[in-house]
Amino acid sequence: MELQSTRRPCVIANWKMHASLLMIKRWVSGWKAESAPLPDRLDIVICPPFVYLQDLLRQVPHPVQVGAQNVYCEEVGAYTGETSPSMLQDIGCPYVIVGHSERRALFSEGDTLVAKKFKAAYDGGLIPILCVGETLSEREAGNTLSVIRLQLESVLSVVRLSFFKRALIAYEPIWAIGTGLTATPEQAECVHKAIREDIHALDADVAREVRLLYGGSVKANNAHALFSQPNIDGGLVGGASLEHQEFFNICLCAS
Ligand code: PEP
Repeated sequence: MELQSTRRPCVIANWKMHASLLMIKRWVSGWKAESAPLPDRLDIVICPPFVYLQDLLRQVPHPVQVGAQNVYCEEVGAYTGETSPSMLQDIGCPYVIVGHSERRALFSEGDTLVAKKFKAAYDGGLIPILCVGETLSEREAGNTLSVIRLQLESVLSVVRLSFFKRALIAYEPIWAIGTGLTATPEQAECVHKAIREDIHALDADVAREVRLLYGGSVKANNAHALFSQPNIDGGLVGGASLEHQEFFNICLCAS
């Protein structure tokens, strides 16, 4: 099934724990010096570490927007080290990544916490980017789709499906993140199509509108083939987004 629609492509940079004031200054001035016209129909979002959100918000050139890499599921209280959805709203940060595989694996974030964070972010007016994806052993065992279904079902047990008219889903095979191994366009499309078909079985409108991004070693030289798949609406880009020109060239591939 190919559900074509007016889905607006989106490319998101995840800077992870990389950046400095100097790096941001250089990145922004390099980006501003790029002369090729970016596609009109494209959302571009940069997710720096928390401490640099406001610096980036002050400097970021139109039409680039800013997102956080994480958020907590409570609004206020004794949660040392955490940041709430309303704090992100307060500084004008519209997007937030939820359930990135590095948070799941390194910080023990399970499906239940990811679902609570997703709901809190959405209820707080943010645009959550929900990350799902399988490990290499899960893929080799033939469990890719069942793993992703469980991750999605866990979120859908606490929110309405219609939340995905605003929220995005990023399919990020864990074996492809930061490894230089990219899913082939066919492998990625196969999973994206399955996600959209599952959603279609529940609600055709949401299936038509939900934006599904691919993440995992996206680079300027593979972005076009990935983004031109019918069910891939853009990408979540880690390492390759740290260099402004590489990220700019990736954005040129999305339209
Ligand atoms: C990521 O951080 O979500 C990611 C996809 O990283 P990379 O592009 O470096 O694989």
